[in-house]
Amino acid sequence: MNIPDIIIAVDGYSSTGKSTFAKLVAQEFDFLYLDSGAMYRGVTLAGLEAGAIADGTIDEAALLPVMEPLQLHFRRVDGVNQLFLGDRSIEKEIRGWEVSQYVSPVSAIPEVRAWVDSRLHAFAESGRVIMDGRDIGTTVFPNAQLKVFMTADPAVRAQRRYDELQLKGEKTTLEEVQANLKDRDYRDSHRPTSPLRQAADAYVLDNTHMTLHEEVVWMLGLLQGKFGLLEAPGLSC
Ligand code: C5P
Repeated sequence: MNIPDIIIAVDGYSSTGKSTFAKLVAQEFDFLYLDSGAMYRGVTLAGLEAGAIADGTIDEAALLPVMEPLQLHFRRVDGVNQLFLGDRSIEKEIRGWEVSQYVSPVSAIPEVRAWVDSRLHAFAESGRVIMDGRDIGTTVFPNAQLKVFMTADPAVRAQRRYDELQLKGEKTTLEEVQANLKDRDYRDSHRPTSPLRQAADAYVLDNTHMTLHEEVVWMLGLLQGKFGLLEAPGLSC
């Protein structure tokens, strides 16, 4: 199937499976996958390591000079993009519980958003990109040719995230995970700079009762409808 070089924006609430979905779509339809949330997580990790974030407080004046010189970039390892800080893979650390607790307030800082956005634009230069986040279809790439807004039942999202953390050996309770998701959704939707919003031209994907395979078939239908592509590729997922 000949899909043109377009930008696909995938936004939505926390733990709706945006990155799993976007990764799979990238693989099936040969796109570069970029995870914008990883960049905010990378800045948060660097802030924690430098002591600019500690004891529930974010010292903005200390964080910004830590962020400016950061060499955050994606590198392909075993066929999957990982976030690197210089030569060090930080993929595992940025998914940890501590980073998750601070990342939303860090991402609400306008200077942090501007810094991340400029890097996302540089990474997406190739044009054939699927990027997931909170404001990709509204702010980062408002002209993206295809926009998806993902949502799912909050209880289902919390359970998925909790199971994921358990597998990683993180010691959290389901209640803590529920509270974290609720807090992040609220903060992300209510911040003054680039709040999480559904773009007017986004297609809504509610995956509460869907398998991953069904999500990709849904995407295939969207691509076919949008670009008039009649011939479907055999999906490998
Ligand atoms: O997608 P992920 O959950 O890894 O993102 C972590 C956090 O980064 C989100 O909760 C949100 O606060 C922030 N974020 C954002 N804008 C994006 C992507 C993520 O504000 N485009």
